[in-house]
Amino acid sequence: MRFHRLTFRASLSLTVAMFIVALLFDIAKDEIVHNVSSYYAIIFLSVLLVFVLNYVILDQLFNFYGTKQIRKISTILPNEIGNVDDSKLNFKQLSERVSEMRQKNATEMDLLKEMEMYRKEYLGNVSHELKTPLFSIQGYVETLLDGGVEDLTIRDKYLVRIDKSVERLLTIVRDLDMIYQYEAGEIHLNITSFDINILIREIIDLLDLEAQRKESKVQLQTSSSTLFVNADKQKISQVLINLISNAIHYANREKAQINIHTTVLGNRVLIAVQDNGMGIKPENLPRIFERFYRVEISRNRKDGGSGLGLAIVKHILEAHGEHISAKSVYLEGTEFSFYLEKST
Ligand code: ATP
Ligand code: MG
Repeated sequence: MRFHRLTFRASLSLTVAMFIVALLFDIAKDEIVHNVSSYYAIIFLSVLLVFVLNYVILDQLFNFYGTKQIRKISTILPNEIGNVDDSKLNFKQLSERVSEMRQKNATEMDLLKEMEMYRKEYLGNVSHELKTPLFSIQGYVETLLDGGVEDLTIRDKYLVRIDKSVERLLTIVRDLDMIYQYEAGEIHLNITSFDINILIREIIDLLDLEAQRKESKVQLQTSSSTLFVNADKQKISQVLINLISNAIHYANREKAQINIHTTVLGNRVLIAVQDNGMGIKPENLPRIFERFYRVEISRNRKDGGSGLGLAIVKHILEAHGEHISAKSVYLEGTEFSFYLEKST
């Protein structure tokens, strides 16, 4: 048996209490015999004395052992719970801290699960996107190897298709790489002052063939002939190419009209790409900036994109400290707009 100071003090106090009670009875023994009421008074006093002593002693014992246990527990708990002044921590506070930490852990677990799901979905999407052009390359190559190469028309036709699929693969890989760099915060802007109207005209020329193929008309409407902005020219041209080529692709109607407006508003320039195409249903609109997201109908397009264009647009504008807005009326048209800082 080990010697405990507190147990010693407790038993000593209880012994003293018992001794006092016995002494009380001894002193009052004559009185007790003759007087019943003083007998009851002494009993009452003794009970009261034993109760008070028990209370004080037990209270001390519990407090002492409680603090000791908390101190022991806090040495094995993570820092955020244990590093407080242990002597002041009681069981209630300890349990509050533990439940606080449990809640925090649950949130972290949810976040990890969400990230895991996101990662799986992302990998699934990437492999799905890469599979389509790869399988078609494989198909064409097999046909050529099986003798198709002898027929010059088949050979040329298939080589052109292989070239297109390789182009598609390269576009996906380049877009994914760009998104990765934006998300990793590795993109540095090269801000210069340039005329946004000139850039828009250049892009309209660049996409002219595509617009002609779709019988769409693309034109610039501006409030002033020259409009200088401060931005990364190469990246803003990527934004405009993505928005204008989307407008051309998803018009889904004959003779679509695409207007690009540039307007000065205070010290900023508003750029809006507006089309009178098929539009986007309100339930799909909030998701179009997610990577790999495509509205169901456009998923079936033969020359379908990967759903990365708008995600890139969003990243580029966010890197400029700006934000892209989309408004659409289903079957009537869509408008994407954003601001850039006006150059003085
Ligand atoms: P990518 O740009 O990677 O080649 P994508 O064009 O399918 O592929 P996004 O540019 O991100 O991907 O566009 C996402 C989806 O939003 C499109 O698939 C299309 O369904 C819808 N969308 C985008 N712009 C328009 C528009 N102007 N009109 C109607 N729908 C649009
Ligand atoms: Mg696109």
